[in-house]
Amino acid sequence: MAAVDGMPDRALVRRSDKHQVVVIGSGFGGLFGTKALRRSDVDVTMIAKTTHHLFQPLLYQVATGILSEGEIAPPTREVLANQKNAQVLLGEVTDIDLEKRLVTSHVLGRELVTPYDSLIVAAGAGQSYFGNDHFAEFAPGMKSIDDALELRGRIFGAFEMAELGASRGENVDHLLTFVVVGAGPTGVEMAGQIAELAHRTLTRDFRAISTRHARVILVDAAPQVLPPFGAKLGKWTQEKLEKIGVEVMLGALVSHVDERGLVVKYKDGTQQRVDAVTKVWAAGVQANPLGKLLSEQTGAPLDRAGRISVNPDLTLPGHPEVFVVGDMISLDNLPGVAQVAIQGAKYAAKEIDGRLKGHAPQKPFKYFDKGSMAIISRFRAVAMVGKLRLTGVIAWLMWLVVHLFYITGFKNRVTAVLHWFVSFIGTGRSERTSTEQQIFARVALQRLERGATDLVSEPGEYDEAAQARRRAELEAQAAEEARLSDENARGVKV
Ligand SMILES: Cc1cc2nc3c(=O)[nH]c(=O)nc-3n(C[C@H](O)[C@H](O)[C@H](O)COP(=O)(O)OP(=O)(O)OC[C@H]3O[C@@H](n4cnc5c(N)ncnc54)[C@H](O)[C@@H]3O)c2cc1C
Repeated sequence: MAAVDGMPDRALVRRSDKHQVVVIGSGFGGLFGTKALRRSDVDVTMIAKTTHHLFQPLLYQVATGILSEGEIAPPTREVLANQKNAQVLLGEVTDIDLEKRLVTSHVLGRELVTPYDSLIVAAGAGQSYFGNDHFAEFAPGMKSIDDALELRGRIFGAFEMAELGASRGENVDHLLTFVVVGAGPTGVEMAGQIAELAHRTLTRDFRAISTRHARVILVDAAPQVLPPFGAKLGKWTQEKLEKIGVEVMLGALVSHVDERGLVVKYKDGTQQRVDAVTKVWAAGVQANPLGKLLSEQTGAPLDRAGRISVNPDLTLPGHPEVFVVGDMISLDNLPGVAQVAIQGAKYAAKEIDGRLKGHAPQKPFKYFDKGSMAIISRFRAVAMVGKLRLTGVIAWLMWLVVHLFYITGFKNRVTAVLHWFVSFIGTGRSERTSTEQQIFARVALQRLERGATDLVSEPGEYDEAAQARRRAELEAQAAEEARLSDENARGVKV
């Protein structure tokens, strides 16, 4: 290891004299990019703000109690354990200095600056509330494990509160109404699963309420469901959703959200209020703010969703050593899907490796579309593969095989199959556990000025003397506990 001249004190020393690749993000782009460099003569440092890789397409199954969070979010460190040239560092990247080739990251007040020779930025996208960020308090999005667990708590919690209210003779319609905003694949899948939960899984579990009467409403401002799947598949999907009891409200723009419900506005100006305690926001994405940072330093324009324009080889103008991949990029109208991130990251890794070996540059990045699919309910899905349009059981089986293939890790595949068996063949849900903290922690953290950092001591604030006192207390307490047991003194009147 060698220290780097002219770097701030907090800079990480170079791991070796090898070419240093920094990868930002442990999602599809980050993980597949890092893996693609496993045979290259480089050191790879992956910096990500979570310790796991997240299989976002199955988040809705964690939210509705089918899968556990571990099955779709394996620890990145474990996934990369055998890749000796890869190091994983926890941290939220807050700055990228393209001039000095430095990445600054933070975790709970600890700062780290990491130098790079090549950089792959794969920080993905977040939820967009189209300028109404205050909706987030009452309508969580579906982007992270925290979101999915919070939604699980809210969904199952709503049934609990309804049972309680109904037992006291109260009207609980607002508790038994679930609204999903956004009729893209995520919204469709989420609405379908809540309907199955209410109308099939939970029917025997409550006494004061009938979960069969729960309303599940799918709302979208667009005139059809699943626009990217075309009009025909959209219509088919809507019919099947309605068949399993989902009410579909189209042309309905959400204009207000509060604790007890939301208001939608139609094109003709009419408004409608829906009383629903549980709202799920599955509409709109906004690229990671790191895109703006890169845009300011390179002049590369951002589109409306904050995605940065990249060169045809996925690099930034004037910075051939910096690649941006996945949901963050705006290139040739590529969709925000996992394959764009995976293929882009592999392309970037190959280019880095090729340059070190003196190979000629590759041809511009070309996306190979492997198709799209969305599940509606058990045994029903829609799929588009090339010109082929599939519906029903065949599409559902395809969905099953593809998702099994892409879930990371053998043990996760095995347990996911077991849990799918429980939910799809049986009527159960294996993961119904939820806690109060799951439901309220996000909002509580937001109310702290500096988020989670407010809850921990600053580095260096460790109080040696207090810790020594505490240790002495614990030792004395343990000695007394042991004495009481050894002398059979418990329960003896003092
Ligand atoms: C609910 C849902 C369902 C989806 N369903 C499908 C589907 O069925 N099929 C499909 O193809 N696609 C689907 N997608 C889209 C797909 O998941 C994304 O296109 C894909 O994840 C993009 O990969 P990425 O690497 O660009 O970003 P991500 O996979 O989102 O990874 C971003 C990574 O960057 C990290 N990160 C973010 N900011 C920072 C920072 N400042 N510092 C450090 N790390 C940071 C994140 O923690 C994460 O590890 C779905 C997405 C969602 C949300």
